Amino acid sequence: MRRKTVRDIDVSGRRVLVRTDYNVPMDDHGVISDDMRIRVTLPTIRYLQERGARIIICSHLDRPGGKVVESLRLAPVARRLSELLGEPVMPLREVVGSGVESAVSEMQQGDVVMLENLRFNPGEKAKDPQFAEDLARLADIYVNDAFGVSHRAAASLVGVPQHLPAVAGLLLQKELDAFADVLEQPERPFAAVIGGAKVSDKLGVLENVLTRVDHLLIGGGMASTFIRSEGYGTGASRVEAEQLDAVRQIEKKAQAQGVDLHLPSDVVVADSLKADAQVRTVPAAEIPDGSMIVDIGPATIDDFARTLSRCRTVVWNGPMGVFENPGSAEGTRRIAAAIASINGTTVIGGGSTAEAVEKFGFTDRMSHISTGGGAALALLAGERLPGVEALPVREAETIGTAA
Ligand code: ADP
Ligand code: MG
Repeated sequence: MRRKTVRDIDVSGRRVLVRTDYNVPMDDHGVISDDMRIRVTLPTIRYLQERGARIIICSHLDRPGGKVVESLRLAPVARRLSELLGEPVMPLREVVGSGVESAVSEMQQGDVVMLENLRFNPGEKAKDPQFAEDLARLADIYVNDAFGVSHRAAASLVGVPQHLPAVAGLLLQKELDAFADVLEQPERPFAAVIGGAKVSDKLGVLENVLTRVDHLLIGGGMASTFIRSEGYGTGASRVEAEQLDAVRQIEKKAQAQGVDLHLPSDVVVADSLKADAQVRTVPAAEIPDGSMIVDIGPATIDDFARTLSRCRTVVWNGPMGVFENPGSAEGTRRIAAAIASINGTTVIGGGSTAEAVEKFGFTDRMSHISTGGGAALALLAGERLPGVEALPVREAETIGTAA
């Protein structure tokens, strides 16, 4: 179900409240080490600005806990946005209230202001209806462009759209379309590559993708739980004993549904997760006592790469190994390369996975790299996002689904 977007309404001259996810890494001096979350919202802001909207941006930053925390003011974020946009962005010192209302009433067409950190107000996390109303009063139209937080319910995400015409921003739309395309109408063969630290973080993802893919490739720390469930020793690897049943169910379902489940046949092991740990390759069935799995091995890489090269659609979540360490980066790097090379649609979800793709230089060769970790996982798990559910469905689709 596609949602209405900013392209479906007339924004010219209107006051538009834009919820963004500017929860950027920032130190106590206001230095932002990574402005990706700001950059990805530029298309929506420029779109609104070109049409003469009055743009009121709101976001939360970190966890001030419902009160003012000086080091978590949004002024440095407004400054960075202004630099990127090449236009002034006025930071306001309050979230809502008469001071904010009078500042907004003085805005000209194309002006951009930024409300203070939403989480300075306890009403944001509490979904306080009064707070939502106070925010809504500032604007004529509401735009959600905060994909990265849309899997959470907060006043600015689910409360405000009850009071205003509400639409998705261009970033939110792009993210939702990318996941809908691959999950709902993938070109086949379709593979999911799932790795990362723990099975328990990814159980919903595994269960959902299993019903959609032709190949399921498992790597990362979670592989040890799968290897154990097959009855092999896993040395000192971290095994989630309480997930062994869930993993067996996944293996059974894969078999029943004709999904080709690929587990590592060989692995790289080390005696610690330290950066300089000595590594060696062993068969997955012969992991020595005291050793832990830190990466997939070369035979597994070859098997995975061969499978991926035949696929037309790939979703990838979770690194294949401890890619931060040079001795255990190869699995993740080679799988990233294999995915980058396929002739088809490739969607990357997960904070660490996106980081790995960037680190190994494949960013430009993927169809879509999600900007939201938790929200991407929720979509891959087939969950509905509260911030998206709060937006109206596009007319054409309402008619289509009602019929
Ligand atoms: P994402 O953020 O992409 O969803 P996760 O958070 O699930 O991914 O997992 C990322 C982390 O998993 C990385 O920091 C990586 O070092 C770690 N990891 C990958 N393989 C292993 C392994 N075999 N043992 C321990 N940690 C691992
Ligand atoms: Mg992560």
